[in-house]
Amino acid sequence: MTQPVFHTGDTICAISTPPGSGAIAVIRLSGPEAVAICDKIYTPLQSGAHPKTKPMPATFKSHTAHLGTIVTAGNILDEVVVTVYRAPHSYTGEDVVEISCHGSNYIQQKLIELLVDSGCRQAQPGEFTLRAFLNGRYDLSQAEAVADLIAAGTQGSHDLALSQMRGGFSQNIKELRQKLIDFTSLLELELDFSEEDVQFADRKELMALLRTMLKELDRLISSFSLGNVIKTGIPVAIIGKPNVGKSTLLNAILNEERAIVSEIPGTTRDYIEDTITAGGLSFRFIDTAGLRHAGDELESMGVERTLQKIQEAEIILYVCDVSACTAENIGDIIREFRELHSDPSKRWILIANKIDKLVEIPPDFRELTDLETIFVSAKRKENISMILDSLTRTVKCDALYDTALVSNVRHYEALVRSRDALTSVEKGFRDGITTDLITIDIKQALYHLGEITGEITSDEILGNIFSHFCIGK
Ligand code: GDP
Repeated sequence: MTQPVFHTGDTICAISTPPGSGAIAVIRLSGPEAVAICDKIYTPLQSGAHPKTKPMPATFKSHTAHLGTIVTAGNILDEVVVTVYRAPHSYTGEDVVEISCHGSNYIQQKLIELLVDSGCRQAQPGEFTLRAFLNGRYDLSQAEAVADLIAAGTQGSHDLALSQMRGGFSQNIKELRQKLIDFTSLLELELDFSEEDVQFADRKELMALLRTMLKELDRLISSFSLGNVIKTGIPVAIIGKPNVGKSTLLNAILNEERAIVSEIPGTTRDYIEDTITAGGLSFRFIDTAGLRHAGDELESMGVERTLQKIQEAEIILYVCDVSACTAENIGDIIREFRELHSDPSKRWILIANKIDKLVEIPPDFRELTDLETIFVSAKRKENISMILDSLTRTVKCDALYDTALVSNVRHYEALVRSRDALTSVEKGFRDGITTDLITIDIKQALYHLGEITGEITSDEILGNIFSHFCIGK
């Protein structure tokens, strides 16, 4: 595979607003010639005095906006507002000009043509943010968060992206990495003086640092399961015996939140997924297309399929038909629930459905109440909001929610590799392995930590990350 090569010395331009026509559009330029190129196509608005005596982009102060016209072949193309940001105080760290024009497709295309004719190159996807990274405006994890921020559709995913963009955990990683680099230098110095058997690096301090790092890495790694689902939607499974009212319940939940029924293309299984947004979080109901059509879901899918659904879910709604329960079989339901419930990484909610068929909750069902069961009537849509409250509470009360969460697979993988390397370092010291071998593992850990924030990177990795951005970002 050929490696992407990044050209950074030239001036790039792109439409930064979404494709199509709109009230206004913004065209962005970045690079050493941004202001000079804008000068070529800009004419000040005021009539009267000679254009040379009127302010031109070359004389605009940084962070100021100016009304003018864009003239091509003697004709006015549009009235625009030009904003100039001078290096290094801009998004990319270079000179940046933003031209706000009227948002017709024609004006946007013409303006881009004009800019290219005047010396700009059309930007690649994510190239503005790539330049921001290369110029040290953002570290790599912050730059990646820009894409997440744009894609965020719920408050939860927005908060995550914003926290990562503002430094999130990367500052902490950088500091710990730097401390480890300092130790490595001392260890390497020891190797230079190996014949004299000296120790420059305080082993106690080094072990303490390793423990702190491993603790932090463990915390970040385990935060990924939550961070990732907050970003992509928290998977919820509805399970229970046939005819307990699972599909009726799903419809009631979807109805309550005016659900977005979304088709998710490109997934391994070509299914329709139901998604709701509640309490600023997105919940994905797993495999519900089958649920709607098959009344006898458990029978037709078999136990294996149900177990698979449980496996994929973060939250499981276990539905029973409370009107069909007797003092005798209630114990079986509770036993089954408790058995399934044994996995502590999942949140289980017991839903006792069809309360409309009961005059009152029989006293024998007290044990159900002890399990914080939610009593509902899916058919009459009673107490459905209690389920939604419970879904959001289950996620939000999680202690992790207050701290930085990892939501990016690339970061997660690098963290796991760093932890593995550091675990070997710790073990190496305990087992009395020689310093030269230990430094190999330390360097591995430093490498993977550096991958997260971009101290260590390759054109290929960068190309892969930024190609997923939209053009103009
Ligand atoms: P599933 O097999 O678990 O998906 O069950 P369905 O949702 O298909 O419901 C089975 C039957 O129970 C249907 O006739 C529903 O109308 C009925 N049903 C579902 N929920 C309720 C409820 O809350 N009250 C009553 N009375 N009937 C319900």
